[in-house]
Amino acid sequence: MGKVAVAFAAAAVVAACSVAGVMVRRRVKSRRKWRSVVEILKELEEGCDTPVGRLRQVVDAMAVEMHAGLASEGGSKLKMLLTFVHHLPQGTEKGTYYALHLGGTYFRILRVLLGGERSYLDVQDVERHPIPSHLMNSTSEVLFNFLAFSLERFIEKEGDGSSSQGVKRELAFTFSFPVKHSSISSGVLIKWTKGFEISEMVGKDIAECLQVALNRRGLDMHVAVLVNDTVGALSLGYYHDPDTVVAVVFGTGSNACYLERTDAIIKSQGLLTTSGSMVVNMEWGNFWSSHLPRTSYDIDLDAESSNPNDMGFEKMISGMYLGDIVRRVILRMSQESDIFGPSSSLLSEPYVLRTNSVSAMHEDDTPELQEVARILKDLGVAEVPLKVRKLVVKVCDVVTRRAGRLAAAGIAGILKKIGRDGGGGITSGRSRSEIQMQKRTVVAVEGGLYMNYTMFREYMEEALVEILGEDVSQYVVVKAMEDGSSIGSALLVASLQS
Ligand code: ADP
Ligand code: MG
Repeated sequence: MGKVAVAFAAAAVVAACSVAGVMVRRRVKSRRKWRSVVEILKELEEGCDTPVGRLRQVVDAMAVEMHAGLASEGGSKLKMLLTFVHHLPQGTEKGTYYALHLGGTYFRILRVLLGGERSYLDVQDVERHPIPSHLMNSTSEVLFNFLAFSLERFIEKEGDGSSSQGVKRELAFTFSFPVKHSSISSGVLIKWTKGFEISEMVGKDIAECLQVALNRRGLDMHVAVLVNDTVGALSLGYYHDPDTVVAVVFGTGSNACYLERTDAIIKSQGLLTTSGSMVVNMEWGNFWSSHLPRTSYDIDLDAESSNPNDMGFEKMISGMYLGDIVRRVILRMSQESDIFGPSSSLLSEPYVLRTNSVSAMHEDDTPELQEVARILKDLGVAEVPLKVRKLVVKVCDVVTRRAGRLAAAGIAGILKKIGRDGGGGITSGRSRSEIQMQKRTVVAVEGGLYMNYTMFREYMEEALVEILGEDVSQYVVVKAMEDGSSIGSALLVASLQS
């Protein structure tokens, strides 16, 4: 080989080596980035860990807080609100009744026709619409005028058949926000949650606001009850099955209510004399315990929300927030590596990833995870490799698993408080025999998250069995109540008439 040829060959080798060197460096760099993303996932998994021991601590904390909230006004973050609902529908109610339900995302109007026996419950004309977002921070007048207008339209469509002329229509107002009741049909708004911000409404009587708006439109309707959505779900549950003593909602927000003995409601002793029990609206979204597994994502979400330091439990388990926790994790991964490609400004936008999309990604069963790819694309993240899509599914899984398991701990906490968990519980005067004899207990559950997100539901139900044990959980029946909040509230009006 001549000198020139040798020099040429040597240069080629050097060039090849340096290309290889660049490639190796790139590979090392990309491996390091992948490792940092895996590290973020690992940290998330550890932060969201909910072994059964920790869940049991949450169960105990829930039962203790319930007790404290019943003992004195302001005794706990759990408000344990009186509802003045002493009797639940029996199944013998008759007539036509209406319900208007203001949830966190949707409002619904419906009419029920009752024929005097359980099997004769005809739910007619269910209307369900998203709440126009401008109403969430408008004025009480604008909000209630809108609701009255919607009711008027609903009734206009009815024709003559449903309510005989001249008879006032009896309406239940299902209101999914905390209310301090002075009777079953009146109460003032304590605070807004779930992103609503109409500050002048706090302290106003919600039923009266609606009644005034109905009168203003000349509608012959009477707001007969003001009920929390959980109480509606309990009412429908009880109507079908009198073993129903607890109701929980997992929708935009989350809350629970249950049937409590009046003598256990220590803060109101002397006031309550009519019957042996009353439904208590726990407002469990505001539950807090140091045992709850909280991550930096939860802390940031809370700090940047419209209600910081409030509704801590709700922010870990409900539909409004799960999507945003997942978004925050993906955002951090995209900032600390380039596995999601060039950074997308959309990903920085709060609440842009909805929980509906989280369940769609989590439950994507296409081999290439096409649904995940589609949703990421909507978030401004172009084509990412399959392993990155799998990583996103894993993030959804971790966040939703924690939510489902904490939700189960919350339910078990209520069962413990009322002595239906198979243990001694916090007895508050219950006799030993009452505790020891395990009764069949039905928990009515409703809300868009529970109804539509199978993995959330499965994680919740699985954890409930884990916490209670196989023996006790045989006596605990979780029943889905589609539209229970609205239908049940109408049944409650009916039960007051009969
Ligand atoms: P509201 O909270 O207004 O009473 P819903 O009970 O129907 O209404 O709950 C709506 C919420 O449920 C949505 O905002 C969303 O967070 C959650 N949700 C609805 N569908 C799904 C779904 N397919 N997957 C996950 N979450 C869902
Ligand atoms: Mg709801």
